[in-house]
Amino acid sequence: MPALPVSEVFGPTIQGEGPYAGRSAWFVRLGGCNLSCSWCDSAYTWDAQRFDLRREIPMTPVEEVLAQVPSSSLVVVTGGEPLLHQNRPAWRALCNGLRARRCTLHVETNGTIVPNETTRGCVQTFVVSPKLANAGVHRGNIDPALRTGWVEVAESGNAHLKVVCASTDDVAGALEIARTTGWPLSQVWVMPEGTTAQELNGRWRAIADAAAHAGINATHRLHILAWQDCRGH
Ligand code: SF4
Repeated sequence: MPALPVSEVFGPTIQGEGPYAGRSAWFVRLGGCNLSCSWCDSAYTWDAQRFDLRREIPMTPVEEVLAQVPSSSLVVVTGGEPLLHQNRPAWRALCNGLRARRCTLHVETNGTIVPNETTRGCVQTFVVSPKLANAGVHRGNIDPALRTGWVEVAESGNAHLKVVCASTDDVAGALEIARTTGWPLSQVWVMPEGTTAQELNGRWRAIADAAAHAGINATHRLHILAWQDCRGH
C-alpha cells in the first residue's frame, strides 16, 4: 500500500488565505520541507530539532487519507513542501484517488520545485509562495527563489503567487518577482506575516494599501481570525 508522511488530515474548515479564501475545504498536510522559514507556522512537519518527526509525520497509507476526505470536496494538499513527494507512487495514488472521488485538488507550495506532468495533470490550482528575506536564511543555504519553470504553469492560468509580507518593502519585493518572471498580476497576492490576529491586523492596512496601489491582490488569514493558530483549522 503506497504511503506518504502525513501530518494531519482535517476538515471541514475554510481555506483561510489566498485566491480561494473563505471557501469550504479539507486539508491534507504532508511532512518534510526543503526550506526552514523563521516564522513557519507548521514547523512540526519538518523541524527535527524541535519535534519528534516519527510521531508528527507518520507514514500513512494513501487509502487511509482518502477515506477521511468527502467526495466532491475541495482538498488542499499542503505541508511542509508537498511537491517533495511528487515522484513517489503514493503521490500518484493520492492524486488519482482524489480525482476518482471527484474532488477539486489545490496544492500549496514554496515554489522551489516545479510540478511534473502527473502533478500538473491532477491539480486544478497551485498556490505558490516564494520566500522573501523576511523568512531568514534556510538550512543548507538553499536558495528559496521561485524556480523558472513555474512561469509556464502561471501562463496556463492555474497558478497564483502568494507572498508573505512583513512590510510594504516586501510588497514591492512580491511585485518585483511578478515583473521579472512575467507572472500575471491578476494572479499575484500578498499576505501579512503573522500567526495572531494582532500581528496580522497590525500589518494589514499598510499591506492592503500597497497592494491596491500596485494593482495586485491582498489576502488576510481568515482561519487565524476564527481559530487562532490552532492545528486542525
Ligand atoms: S516553505 Fe512553508 S512549510 Fe517550509 S519552512 Fe517555509 S513556511 Fe514552513
